[in-house]
Amino acid sequence: MKYGAFNPPPDLTKEQEELIHWAISSGVKKCSRCGLTLPTALFSVDRNAATGLQGYCRICNRENMLRWTERKELERQRAMIDVALERLERQELPRETA
Ligand SMILES: [Zn+2]
Repeated sequence: MKYGAFNPPPDLTKEQEELIHWAISSGVKKCSRCGLTLPTALFSVDRNAATGLQGYCRICNRENMLRWTERKELERQRAMIDVALERLERQELPRETA
């Protein structure tokens, strides 16, 4: 799934806006564990997988290995990206086909 030109909704915070831009430029993928659509930068590489990426996002995958503070920060970002992308979907903004 790829997004085209993006006009951020006016009430997004600067941080949300930056995260969306990051998500769009990195491409997005749905995690098969938490079910959230996340930037591919949050997935680890898996050469055996068809997509070249692991099915679980880095947060699901490494949940127990991450330090608490790192995990909290990733979870916060993950939630924010998910909300932002969902809003992007709802607004039916122009997007490229994959
Ligand atoms: Zn996940």
